[in-house]
Amino acid sequence: MSIFRTIRQLRRGRLPGQVVIQLTDRCNARCPQCGMRATNAFSRTTLDTAEVRRAIDAAARHGMAALSFTGGEPLLEMDRLVELITYAGRQGIPYIRTGTNGFAFCGKTAAERRQRITEVARRLANTPLRNFWISVDSAIPTVHEGMRGLKGVVEGIREAVPIFHEHGIYPAANLGINRNLNGAATSEVRPEDFRDRAAYLSAFRQAFDTGFRRFYAQVLDMGFTIANACYPMSVEPRTENLDAVYTATSEDRIVRFERDEKAVLFDTMRQVIPDYRPNLRIFTPLCSLLVLSRHYRGEAGVSYPCRGGLDFLFVEARGGKAFPCGYRGHDDFGPMGNLPALPDGPAACRECDWECFRDPSELGGPLMELLRHPWALFKRFRQDREFARTWFGDLRYYRSCGWFDGRRPPALERLHHHLHPDVPAPAAPARLPVRG
Ligand code: SF4
Ligand code: SF4
Repeated sequence: MSIFRTIRQLRRGRLPGQVVIQLTDRCNARCPQCGMRATNAFSRTTLDTAEVRRAIDAAARHGMAALSFTGGEPLLEMDRLVELITYAGRQGIPYIRTGTNGFAFCGKTAAERRQRITEVARRLANTPLRNFWISVDSAIPTVHEGMRGLKGVVEGIREAVPIFHEHGIYPAANLGINRNLNGAATSEVRPEDFRDRAAYLSAFRQAFDTGFRRFYAQVLDMGFTIANACYPMSVEPRTENLDAVYTATSEDRIVRFERDEKAVLFDTMRQVIPDYRPNLRIFTPLCSLLVLSRHYRGEAGVSYPCRGGLDFLFVEARGGKAFPCGYRGHDDFGPMGNLPALPDGPAACRECDWECFRDPSELGGPLMELLRHPWALFKRFRQDREFARTWFGDLRYYRSCGWFDGRRPPALERLHHHLHPDVPAPAAPARLPVRG
């Protein structure tokens, strides 16, 4: 996508568009944090190819820059996935993403595993796929496998990552933040065991600080070069304003956090990530974590409203209909393929923390303001220097990361130099110890 086109879009008050297409709600994993787990009985649906093609045509017609194929488990639809990624690329969509829970990397023998992994990597490498995510829920392999119900998946992922690298794909470890991040060390910190809330929150912070550190060290050790995080999606399936059409939500305790816990969680992550940025391309923007932690502390401050329903859309597996996102099921835009134009109007929604839409809104908001109302942005940044510094820091870091191009290896020297300009880069990629 050309920089001039992006600037024209920003001047018109639009961010580069993205659409998330839920190819299927079928899944073979058992994640307690997700309503699509295989053990949850409901009638499953898969979008037919013609419907998806129409949705892709509409996305291309409306100049959308990014398209994600999500599930359920997208690799259950491997043949169609390959075909549709190729089709989306031909329609001119530059940023195409998909991912997996890693089930295809499990196998009875090493030879069988290697053959299956190589086949997946080879087929995806022949498409214009830009980013590929693999889910990792916990720093502790047995906990992750227990949650997913996929025995041996961690060893499978460990084997898969270098094979993908050989094929020119650099997968991202995708953490769905939950209380099992560091096993019992995070899940068993309970308020009733502390004299008061402050003592509990302090222990909670300490536990998640260790958990995040252990997680990033673990995925580095598994060979990943990119990491991202999904914020806990514990929205109630039906609240006054939200009606989840994307069933990747759950009411399970492991993804339910109180507001003060969320404030600590986001703040802790913001403190930890900079230590791992020199070695790992971590997408999670610190500016988002900053405003989210402030929001849950009840503080006012800069926060850009979500572009869901304006520049970003979600297409559900059940009928190919477009929605503002996976959580505003009341706002049905009808079949994506028939969408005459992208919706217009002021952005105002801050109802949830869905990072797919909230993170790019937070990152892109100031850019749009810069081109449309530079004086307002200047005033905003003067009032909130911490946000301004953090946002500029994110952009500089993203540049050092090559804008997270999952078809290129990391430029570790550039990453290191970005963060420690006065210290020579280590001779070999650093591996941080996996701490208990
Ligand atoms: S989180 Fe992903 S892998 Fe787990 S049940 Fe949901 S769709 Fe399946
Ligand atoms: S904040 Fe964004 S993702 Fe969340 S409900 Fe609103 S439009 Fe949807």
